[in-house]
Amino acid sequence: MKRKNLLEIEKSVGIFLGATLLSMAFYHLGFTNANIIMVYILGVLLTSISTSRQIYSLISSIVSVVVFNFLFTSPRYSFTAYETGAPVTFLVMFLTAYITGSFALRYKEQAFSSAKSAFMAQVLFESGQLLSKAADREAIWHTGATQIRKLLARDIVIWPVEADALAPGRYEGKNVRSYDPDHAMKQALVCMQTGLSCADDAGPGALAYYPLRVQGRTYGVVGIDRNEPLEPEEQRMLLSLLGEFALALENEQNAREKETAAILAQSEQLRANLLRTISHDLRTPLTTISGNASNLIANADCFDRETKLALYTDIYDDAMWLKTIVENLLYATRIEEGHMSLKTSEELLSDIVDEAVAHVARRADEHQLDRLPEDTLMLVRVDPSLMVQVITNLLDNAVKYSPAGSRIVIALKACGDTAQVQISDNGPGIPDAEKSKIFDKFYRGGNRIADNRRSLGLGLYLCKAITEAHGGTITVADNTPTGAVFTVTLPKEEVLLNEVVSDPGR
Ligand code: ADP
Repeated sequence: MKRKNLLEIEKSVGIFLGATLLSMAFYHLGFTNANIIMVYILGVLLTSISTSRQIYSLISSIVSVVVFNFLFTSPRYSFTAYETGAPVTFLVMFLTAYITGSFALRYKEQAFSSAKSAFMAQVLFESGQLLSKAADREAIWHTGATQIRKLLARDIVIWPVEADALAPGRYEGKNVRSYDPDHAMKQALVCMQTGLSCADDAGPGALAYYPLRVQGRTYGVVGIDRNEPLEPEEQRMLLSLLGEFALALENEQNAREKETAAILAQSEQLRANLLRTISHDLRTPLTTISGNASNLIANADCFDRETKLALYTDIYDDAMWLKTIVENLLYATRIEEGHMSLKTSEELLSDIVDEAVAHVARRADEHQLDRLPEDTLMLVRVDPSLMVQVITNLLDNAVKYSPAGSRIVIALKACGDTAQVQISDNGPGIPDAEKSKIFDKFYRGGNRIADNRRSLGLGLYLCKAITEAHGGTITVADNTPTGAVFTVTLPKEEVLLNEVVSDPGR
């Protein structure tokens, strides 16, 4: 402020000296006093244009008259004047200089204030557009802060409201160090709680606090440097900008709440569908089990051995099927909740496959299950129970989806650093359009199971999740002439000789 005053004084003195020098030159060239008066009036005019306060043009007018009297009216170099009309000349000269200067200053101020208004209106317009385009909450905070700083050219602090509490302030500007963060935070808290703007006493580091508020909900507090008070026009524009800022935050909050509600509704819907499907799926085998068991209880004496065996077998099959479904569901829940912790150990891949084959052997008695001999022993680091579940699910599918009597081939191959298990069947195969979808949760393809039991669409989803958790992959391809080939690829561990060949010294 002081520097500005000093500069304006320097400018005024400079202009005045310039006018005096020019007047002296005119005097020596024989120009009349009227010309010299015009030079001084021009000097006062220039002073008014190049300074910001009327006092400069007033002093400049007075000094011009006095110096004109001293230097150019006779007797020269004295403050007396002999001419009869001299006082009138001085008065007219003073009034003309002062009034012209005042008009020039006023005109300049008006031009400046209308340029400033136009600029602020432009910033406000631009802010509305930018805020509505901001992609997320963070972008809204950034845009709002940038636009306020552009509008007022002042430092600001922003305190976002998160979970009904004030988050720490973000200071934006050069003089941020002069603010006391604890005091400012306390004031901002008052502003948030009351929803009303408030201000520190003016001075360095003082802030004015404005709530970002729409319909009784406060989204944040903005602190604005008030070392110099805001002009009414600035205040008006700021309030409009803060309104747009708060509105953008409200829109974003509404969109987020709507999205959360939609996700919740969707997951509720999914849960309901899942429960309905599972209840239906579980009821069918349970009805058969309880029907067969009650039949056996009531008529045990009348049934011959074969009939009893058939009923026992049915009960066993249904119970086993239920066990697989429940196990798959449990694994799926563990994956969903992020609790799938792997208890890995080094296992021979052939042991895993043998165990899975043993699980499905009874269900596969109408199929020809061929296990091709492998060329080498392969060690894999897996959670054995989970990996057995993967192979069991794949073998189960091969049995379920291919006709009785058809061949299911199990092959184990070493391929570089990986070990592969391939299960091929001669069923209908997977149409190309479904190949990418069959690993999705609850996806059931066009192939239906022969015995009318409804599938859950969880088997392959689990195979993929479990295999990937082991750092492996699962793929599906077409078998020739028909059928599907599922390949599970896992990272292979190195087989150390003493792990498989017994120590000859023992
Ligand atoms: P589910 O067998 O319980 O339906 P899956 O996730 O195991 O669920 O399989 C998803 C779909 O992929 C099945 O509904 C079926 O249409 C198809 N599918 C899976 N394995 C085979 C296969 N070996 N042959 C033909 N279709 C299969």
